[in-house]
Amino acid sequence: MRYPSLFAPLDLGFTTLPNRVLMGSMHTGLEDRARDFDKLAAYFAERARGGVGLMVTGGFAPSMAGWLTPFASRLSMPWQVAPHRRITRAVHAEGGRICLQILHAGRYAYHPLSVAPSKVKSPITPFTPRALSARGVERTIDDFVACARKAQDAGYDGVEVMGSEGYLINQFLAERTNRREDEWGGSVENRQRFPVEIIRRMRAAVGRDFIIIYRLSMLDLVERGQAWDEIVALAKKIEAAGATLINTGIGWHEARVPTIVTSVPRAGFAWVTRRMKAEVRIPLVTTNRINMPEVAERILAAGDADMVSMARPLLADPEWVRKAREDRVADINTCIACNQACLDHVFENRRASCLVNPRACHETELVIAPATVKKRIAVVGAGPAGLACATTLAERGHAVTLFEQAGEIGGQFNMAKRIPGKEEFHETLRYYARRIERDGIELRLGTRATPEQLQGYDEVVLATGVTPRAITIPGSERPNVVSYVDVLLHGASVGARVAIIGAGGIGFDVAEFLVEPSPSPTTDVARWTREWGVDMTLGARAGLAKPAPEAPAREVWLLQRSPGKPGKRLNKTTGWVHRATLAAKRVTMLGGVSYERIDDEGLHIRAGDEARVLAVDTVVVCAGQEPNRALHAAFGGDAARVHLIGGADVAAELDAKRAIEQGTRLAARL
Ligand code: FAD
Ligand code: NAP
Ligand code: SF4
Repeated sequence: MRYPSLFAPLDLGFTTLPNRVLMGSMHTGLEDRARDFDKLAAYFAERARGGVGLMVTGGFAPSMAGWLTPFASRLSMPWQVAPHRRITRAVHAEGGRICLQILHAGRYAYHPLSVAPSKVKSPITPFTPRALSARGVERTIDDFVACARKAQDAGYDGVEVMGSEGYLINQFLAERTNRREDEWGGSVENRQRFPVEIIRRMRAAVGRDFIIIYRLSMLDLVERGQAWDEIVALAKKIEAAGATLINTGIGWHEARVPTIVTSVPRAGFAWVTRRMKAEVRIPLVTTNRINMPEVAERILAAGDADMVSMARPLLADPEWVRKAREDRVADINTCIACNQACLDHVFENRRASCLVNPRACHETELVIAPATVKKRIAVVGAGPAGLACATTLAERGHAVTLFEQAGEIGGQFNMAKRIPGKEEFHETLRYYARRIERDGIELRLGTRATPEQLQGYDEVVLATGVTPRAITIPGSERPNVVSYVDVLLHGASVGARVAIIGAGGIGFDVAEFLVEPSPSPTTDVARWTREWGVDMTLGARAGLAKPAPEAPAREVWLLQRSPGKPGKRLNKTTGWVHRATLAAKRVTMLGGVSYERIDDEGLHIRAGDEARVLAVDTVVVCAGQEPNRALHAAFGGDAARVHLIGGADVAAELDAKRAIEQGTRLAARL
């Protein structure tokens, strides 16, 4: 057994978990309407079948006031119990265990009924909450307890009480949001009374043999958050009040320190749970950026935690646990922590999925069934679209030939993986390489497919990607004007002062590539926490220290023609991290720019009425892309047999999420 600690059973007294993997709570968008519960049941059942020890649902509010958004998930009425049995039965039928998460949004609620300990508006919602009266606080505790009882009636194995991430309970705990002067505010003792009473009364109501997980905010990462000694005292009280497990929460949603994005080092916050280990006796769960078995094993073997929580990695691969147990780690489809299809969707009120696994949360709709008629299929281009398509086709039993003109698979991912903080993209390529080998795909590397080579196939899929858009201004033919492909793939030399033309996702990535030292801080927890201002000694309140970014490797200007500050169109939950990273590296970001010419002086631009010369050594062009459809034209009208996917289909606003989903969906129906 390669991961003995990960697969050691965990005895909770009244039940024994088969391994140390907790599937952490993650809202999918299927929780909000009972009519979606069959889909939710299929989603959880698939993960239970994959062997995960214990799962937690997305958050359910214990009252209307606790809703995240109007009509969002809630378990507070008797008639809301029965639909949940579809979920618990499906999970139990697969031998799994599942807890319901109880989440009261407090002032993070996106509706006018919101309540909080005090009338303090959050910076991330437009609504000012009403301060709960003392009776209101009592009623809210009752709501939590009643919700747990209903979860028990619905067949759940337990509940998780959400006490972190800046939601209602966390709001009671911190001076930042609790300005009360009654028995629920003021002293530490008073601020901590709310969660302690919830757990104490809940345990009395549900009896001994029911799991209660308390998600404890171990690091608030906001001004006037909790001090470490307060958090330790709370953990001890929560244990005494009857919790079964304590899970780790890191950072409020309004914190300015990233906690889960791909540039956070793997297991970047396990050190916080380790500090708590000496303080309590009940099992502790650690979390954040744990995505591969060796990382989990290392934490558990070192005794830093008793379980690891993973949510997104189990979205990416429902069989993660089974593959780890069977020592098939190369088969794991690794979560790259991009947030693009999971959290970004949730924050946009869309159903979650996964960039590397479009079946996630669509298990009943995107079915990969064996093909009834086995065909010979050629796929041209081994970028994300072609890889997803070819491997899914082969999984269904088709005979697949995959043509790739480069010497390696991956397409643009071979550039993405070189960006500091995007090292996880290597994992996706490792996963596809393994599937190509396992599923018997004939891979022709270094082969630029021609129409002649593609004769005789039953179907032809063109996944030939994009070509970078060139710019044509006076001087753009000079040798110091290069494209992002030259820089990222071909090692073009870049001077100390650089202008980047185009500030989309690639412009931002190239800027990070040029300013970050190598290796990047992502590979080192101590360097990364220093950069972002996290106090690893835990001496400072809420874990906040002064950020100390390392010096930039170059002086960079990042430019766009559209008005406004660059970076507005970056992804919802990660864009701010990219903007903050470049600001810390003193990158000058300019919008509303027109490009005049490039000469010996540098890049001449006009910003508003002002003409400027940026005295740069190198200009890197990141001005978007055009579809590469050269082959398609050669097939004329043979549309039934020839299919375009990914960037070859539509280059505008293309990302790997669309490329992989389109490739998978086409393969599921051919
Ligand atoms: P491509 O990846 O362009 O692949 C096309 C492939 O076809 C290439 O390998 C090419 O060599 C091959 N090919 C072309 N013609 C032929 C032929 N005639 N014969 C054989 N082979 C041929 N997306 C995200 O979602 N998230 C990110 O964080 C992200 N970061 C990125 C960072 C960088 C630096 C870059 C450059 C891109 C990033 N992207 C990201 C974009 C993402 O990589 C693309 O959307 C995705 O690769 C498009 O996939 P594709 O398969 O359509 O095309
Ligand atoms: P993009 O987001 O479309 O950005 C292209 C940039 O070039 C824009 O800033 C555009 O803005 C500028 N531009 C367009 N035509 C130009 C011209 N003729 N001359 C000068 N400037 C021009 O495309 P991208 O940055 O190349 O990225 C491609 C795709 O990869 C994106 O859709 C993105 O989703 C994906 N990607 C995602 C991530 C991620 O982290 N999620 C990272 C990298 C890439 P102006 O016209 O205002 O100048
Ligand atoms: Fe992980 Fe990205 Fe998939 Fe979310 S979308 S589960 S972050 S790979």
